[in-house]
Amino acid sequence: MPDDSARTGRRPAEGGHGFATRMSHAGRAGTRVHGFVNPAVHRGSTVLHPNCESRRTFQKDRFNRVMTYGTAGGPTHYALEDVVAEIEGGTRCVIVGTGLAAISVPLMAYLRAGDHCLMPDSVYGPARALANGLLRGWGVETTFYDPRVDEAGMAALIRPNTRVVYTESPGSHTFEMQDVPAIARAAHARGAKVLMDNTWGIHHFQPFRHGVDVSIQALTKYVGGHSDLLLGAVTVANEADYLAVRGAAAQMGHYASPDDCWLALRGARTLPVRLRQQEASALEVARWFQRQPQVLRVLFPALPEDPGHAIWKRDFTGACSLFGVVFQPRYGEADIFAMVDGLALFGIGASWGGFESLAVPTTGFITRTATSPDLGGYAVRFHIGLEDPADLIADLAQGLARLESR
Ligand SMILES: *Cc1c(COP(=O)(O)O)cnc(C)c1O
Repeated sequence: MPDDSARTGRRPAEGGHGFATRMSHAGRAGTRVHGFVNPAVHRGSTVLHPNCESRRTFQKDRFNRVMTYGTAGGPTHYALEDVVAEIEGGTRCVIVGTGLAAISVPLMAYLRAGDHCLMPDSVYGPARALANGLLRGWGVETTFYDPRVDEAGMAALIRPNTRVVYTESPGSHTFEMQDVPAIARAAHARGAKVLMDNTWGIHHFQPFRHGVDVSIQALTKYVGGHSDLLLGAVTVANEADYLAVRGAAAQMGHYASPDDCWLALRGARTLPVRLRQQEASALEVARWFQRQPQVLRVLFPALPEDPGHAIWKRDFTGACSLFGVVFQPRYGEADIFAMVDGLALFGIGASWGGFESLAVPTTGFITRTATSPDLGGYAVRFHIGLEDPADLIADLAQGLARLESR
C-alpha cells in the first residue's frame, strides 16, 4: 500500500480496499521500529526536545499532532486513532480512557449553561445519569425523547437553545432503531450537533454518511474484543469538530494507557473476522430463540420480524452479536433467574463484544421516562461470543427446559 502520509500530512489513502484489508494495514504507516510489524508501546510522561528552540516549535507527527507531553498522547495512541477513524469512516479521532469518557467529552465540548440537549429514552444508562447529574447541575437541560421519532417529530422537539441531539441505534437493552438520517436533517436545519453512540453499529453503520457529526465508540467492546481493557473513542469528520473534542478532552485531562491502546490495536486486526463470525452465530441463536414456545419475541433489528428491520436494512451493512429476548409473560423473575443461573457457557455480567458469551436479565434494570419499559414479558440480553453456536443452543435449550420444570 503506497504511503505518502509523511509528505502530505494526511492519512494514507485506503480507498478501494475492503474492510479486512484496511484493518490489517491502518495505523502502521511510519510506526515501524527495527522492522517489527507492530508499532511499539510508547509509555511516557516527559517528551524531550533536542534544544530550547525546538521546544518552542514542538515536535509534530505526520498528521500535525503535537507531542508535547504524555497527556497529549503519543505514537501508540495516534496509531489507534487512525485505526478507529478507519473503522468509523471519519477523519480524526480522540482516544480516551473509557467508552463513558467518550460520551462525556463531546457533550461537554458542545454544551454550555442555558443550552438544551435531546437524548433518546433508550440511551446507555450512564449517559442518562450524566445528563441528569453534572449536566443538569451546570444548567444544561435534557429532554428524553422516544427513540422512534421521525423527522417532523424531532423538528418539534428542537428548541432555539437545543445544541445537541444525541442518538444511539439500536437503543441499549430495548434495541429500538433510530432513523438517524431523518433526525440529523431536523437537527442540522436548526443548528444542533448530532452525536451518536455507535458502539452497536461499529463498522456496520457509517455515521458520517448518515448525518452524524460526532461518533462515540466504546472500544471496550468489539475493538478490544477480549474483555481485558477499557477504552473509548470520539471520532469526527472535520477539523472544527476535531479541535472542539480534542480541546475538551485536553482541558479535562483525559488520557488512555498506551498499553491498552496497543491491546486495542491488536484487537482491531481481527475485528472483521470476529464481527463476521459473531454476527452469523448471533443470527443462528436468535432465529432459534424465535422458534421456541417460551419466547414472546426477539429484540434484534437484523431479524425481518423486528419493527426496526427496515431502517437497519437501509442504513446498516451488518449486525453485531448483542440482542434481547423477551420471554412469555407467564415467567417471572425467579424463573428467569433460575434459567440464566444454570447456563454453563454464558457468563452473567455487564459489557459485551468479547470472545465469550454473556446473559444478563434486563427487566427492572432499565430506566425509561418517555416510553414504556414494559416489553410484554421478562427480558434477557444475550451477547454471543466465538463459541460454537450449536453448543450455545444446547446450553440454552437446557435453560428453557428449566423454565418448564419449575
Ligand atoms: C459499554 C458501553 C459504553 C461505555 O463503555 P465503557 O468503556 O464501559 O465505559 C457506552 N455505550 C454503550 C452503548 C455501551 O454498551
